[in-house]
Amino acid sequence: MTNDLLSLSTNEFIGGIETVAPRFDSASYPQQNLPADDWTLLTKAGVLLPTLPKEYGGRDDHAEMCEVVEKLSEWNLPLGMYVTVISAVALRPIVLWADEEAKREVLPAYAGGDPMIAGFASTEPGCGSAMSAMTTTFEEVEGGYRIRGRKHWQAFSISAHWWLVSAKNETRDRREYGYFIVKRSEGFRTLRPYEPLGLKVIDYGLNEIDAVVPRHRRIAADGRTLRPMVEMLMASRAMMAAMGCGFLRRISREAHAYAERRRIGPGPQSAIRFVRYRLAAIDASYTVCSALNHHLRTALNMKDEMIGSFPAVQAIKTVATERMLSSAHHYQQLVGGEGYRSGSPTNISAQAFLDARVYTIFDGTNDLLSQQLTEYCLARTDGRALSRFLAEWPLTASAVTAHGLDLNFLDRDLRQEHLVLAGRAIAYAFAIGRVMRWAAETGADPRAARTAIEFLKADIAGVATEFELLSAGVLGGPTLN
Ligand SMILES: Cc1cc2nc3c(=O)[nH]c(=O)nc-3n(C[C@H](O)[C@H](O)[C@H](O)COP(=O)(O)OP(=O)(O)OC[C@H]3O[C@@H](n4cnc5c(N)ncnc54)[C@H](O)[C@@H]3O)c2cc1C
Repeated sequence: MTNDLLSLSTNEFIGGIETVAPRFDSASYPQQNLPADDWTLLTKAGVLLPTLPKEYGGRDDHAEMCEVVEKLSEWNLPLGMYVTVISAVALRPIVLWADEEAKREVLPAYAGGDPMIAGFASTEPGCGSAMSAMTTTFEEVEGGYRIRGRKHWQAFSISAHWWLVSAKNETRDRREYGYFIVKRSEGFRTLRPYEPLGLKVIDYGLNEIDAVVPRHRRIAADGRTLRPMVEMLMASRAMMAAMGCGFLRRISREAHAYAERRRIGPGPQSAIRFVRYRLAAIDASYTVCSALNHHLRTALNMKDEMIGSFPAVQAIKTVATERMLSSAHHYQQLVGGEGYRSGSPTNISAQAFLDARVYTIFDGTNDLLSQQLTEYCLARTDGRALSRFLAEWPLTASAVTAHGLDLNFLDRDLRQEHLVLAGRAIAYAFAIGRVMRWAAETGADPRAARTAIEFLKADIAGVATEFELLSAGVLGGPTLN
């Protein structure tokens, strides 16, 4: 029973997760929605307990939340996302900001080892990146709020018991956003299931909401802007570091083993120097995600507001997910034709690529997040050139100084396309600083850190080259130089 799990030490508790996780090995686990019995097995192992407060039967532990997701993602990346959505996206805002009555109604059901599921409904067919255009509405009615609208691509569209739903109330001169805890039976209906390319353990679809919820189920949040929604997404974006770390440990292991086994000509594939380059790129990505994960575990706190960590979280999300995708790509390329075969007995690369593909798209598309990161920095330069700001900003200063990063190419009028690219460069500089800190604090292999930093510096140089490309007029129209 989950009660017994509350007195365990972290090592013992995580040991229990490590015992059940291999059962979900993506090399053999079916590509299908997770059956309720398997979710029961995981909830009984306590995968949701670190998210829940002690008074609601949880273990209430930030670092354990990260570790659970990292361990699961090593065996089965989609399962890492499964737990992240329920814990970090749907339950965390309820734990942090819901009315006590709503907490009492919802949270105990997630502590008991039952196969309970919760989802977060924000994206609509007409808007994902610019959520101010949402058309789902709420209005005050007797005893509570009526919420009406359509949402799509929600994880657990068909299976979630409880929802956190965003909605808007707009009159001619006033706009207000609201967040509501909705029980499925109150009026959350799936009109059509979607067939995703990967992440098969999770069900998706197009959903219609027409529900009346009691007043106490409105989450306390400033309704004037979408800032609370950004805050609600902070934890899952940060969790990409834990997922990336687990996933890339596996991908690195699989890719190396494959390259040793596979004979090409007289020797193993791994004897080919360009193959070794691809393996080095995968390993560097694993190092980067390990460092970002270290930052998540030691410098961030999902148990509290995270909006103050907005720039770090934007950088973590974009860098970790890019690394997951590029490594899955390298691995699939190394495997050759067998990497294009569903269910191949020799490798997991085809599914790994399909699973990783969506990470740069969902939870805030990376292009938008990169733009927002640049805008955040530009708003704080205080008249300094952006490169000077980055040389002094605590999140990038150590990297700029230690590695003499030349970010002068950022000091120009930045159009929208530059804002996106600049955000990537800023995120890479942030990541270099995290790798340095991780190496210093964990005693990790300095060669691994050095290689990862060289790859990140090359990424920054790549952005500088893209700036030049834009100056060459590839977008057409007048250039600013
Ligand atoms: C598998 C999966 C799971 C999901 N889970 C959930 C969930 O649980 N709950 C939920 O509410 N939603 C969920 N979503 C929705 C997801 O968050 C959105 O798809 C995502 O935010 C992007 O929104 P969009 O699809 O409307 O794309 P759009 O907003 O149309 O953007 C499409 C593309 O346009 C470009 N673009 C947009 N803005 C910019 C910019 N500023 N600069 C440069 N390029 C830009 C980018 O290339 C971007 O990828 C999920 C989606 C998928 C595919």
